[in-house]
Amino acid sequence: MSEHVVIIGAGIVGATTATLALRAGYRVTILEPGSPGGEQAASYGNGCWLSPMSVIPPAGPGLWKKVPKFLADPLGPLAIRWSYLPRVLPWLARYLWAGWTEAKVEAAARALRPLLVDAPALHKALADEAGVGHLIERRGLIYTYENRAQFESEAMAWRIRRKVGIEWLELDADQMRQREPDLDRRYTFGALVEEGGHCRDPGAYVAALVAQAQAEGATLRAGRATGFRIEGGRLKAVLTEQGEIAADRAVICAGAHSKPLAAAAGSSVPLETERGYHAMVADAEAGPRTPMMPYDGKMSVTWTDRGLRCAGQVEIAGLEAAPNWKRAEILRDHLLRSFPGLPRDLPAERVKFWMGHRPSMPDGLPCLGPAAASGDVLLAFGHGHVGLVAAPRTARVVLAMLQGRPAEIDVAPFSPSRFGG
Ligand SMILES: Cc1cc2nc3c(=O)[nH]c(=O)nc-3n(C[C@H](O)[C@H](O)[C@H](O)COP(=O)(O)OP(=O)(O)OC[C@H]3O[C@@H](n4cnc5c(N)ncnc54)[C@H](O)[C@@H]3O)c2cc1C
Repeated sequence: MSEHVVIIGAGIVGATTATLALRAGYRVTILEPGSPGGEQAASYGNGCWLSPMSVIPPAGPGLWKKVPKFLADPLGPLAIRWSYLPRVLPWLARYLWAGWTEAKVEAAARALRPLLVDAPALHKALADEAGVGHLIERRGLIYTYENRAQFESEAMAWRIRRKVGIEWLELDADQMRQREPDLDRRYTFGALVEEGGHCRDPGAYVAALVAQAQAEGATLRAGRATGFRIEGGRLKAVLTEQGEIAADRAVICAGAHSKPLAAAAGSSVPLETERGYHAMVADAEAGPRTPMMPYDGKMSVTWTDRGLRCAGQVEIAGLEAAPNWKRAEILRDHLLRSFPGLPRDLPAERVKFWMGHRPSMPDGLPCLGPAAASGDVLLAFGHGHVGLVAAPRTARVVLAMLQGRPAEIDVAPFSPSRFGG
């Protein structure tokens, strides 16, 4: 009888991990309280970017100087709710420290790059096998700026990207106009990263991966994991609200909700949620030819099969607080300013707002590795801003860990115990 692996959570990390575990011969149960890739998952509403160049962790040198602004401006691109500050302080201190120097940022980028490189091709193969190859496209990704000076204000990030092997093409005003006729003329400079891709519908993609896994023999169980029965260091069962599921191995892929599950397996990890939003316009009259990120909007703009989606914002306010839809309105308004061909008086019924939870570690790197109480339980969460792009390589790493062989990349930077838990 093959080993039984319970995959906890059916976002993109759980879906890709389940797929590979199944094909490696494990008996797989996917445990998920919602629908796979449904609106409850970060994997549903993200920016759709398969961006191997997203190696720069969120915090950088000097960010601490802006903390008063993050607290004072509840609608800024990064905001911290006052009421949540006491709870998040230890995480915030580690977050700021993780980006304290350029050397620290470069070390994070070097760790992250192997997890992201080739992501569009890895996704394409998985999507093809699930019959949804059309959902993965590789047309590059563009960062757009009003002028070169804005681009140069991010010199450190681009310098580090170059050092880790990322290449880009610089586009002048003429080239921008030719490539992106709908884009507002104030953007006169662009950096095109040709190795980037995007997913036309991440929610549908996750659902298709899980459906394919089911067709190949995986079991999907509706339910929420609550803990583990571990005896003598060996996993016996995953505990759920509906009772136990006997299991030989388990992988915690519950995104931003993974912290109590990791604790139940003996690992204390500083996982937080960086809440994010999207606004999506149905039947949009204008938009980018290539998915793009306007510098001043700090958001991605991407065509999806459900509409023109702009996604972004970072709000530190925990898992429980109600969404602040003004943040999604800011994204929408910025979209309208970026693409003058969109109607100023866009009817409300054509715009859909969404809020979701990035599962974020302070250093911008995921937790991949065994739980403290039992090596039978693996942690695979905490991908923050890059969970979609990182998922297929993450799944390959987790499979190697399940099989007890060395992973194909250096996983030491992702150790779940790196913060001492
Ligand atoms: C606004 C925004 C934009 C983003 N843009 C991008 C982007 O362009 N590119 C990119 O790579 N990343 C992006 N991200 C990040 C990315 O979406 C996440 O890192 C990624 O989706 C995390 O995937 P996951 O599978 O770990 O978690 P999730 O997708 O959140 O899935 C976790 C699943 O676990 C389930 N679950 C929770 N608790 C339990 C439990 N106790 N038992 C069982 N199941 C449970 C949940 O229901 C959920 O379905 C963005 C995120 C946001 C919010």
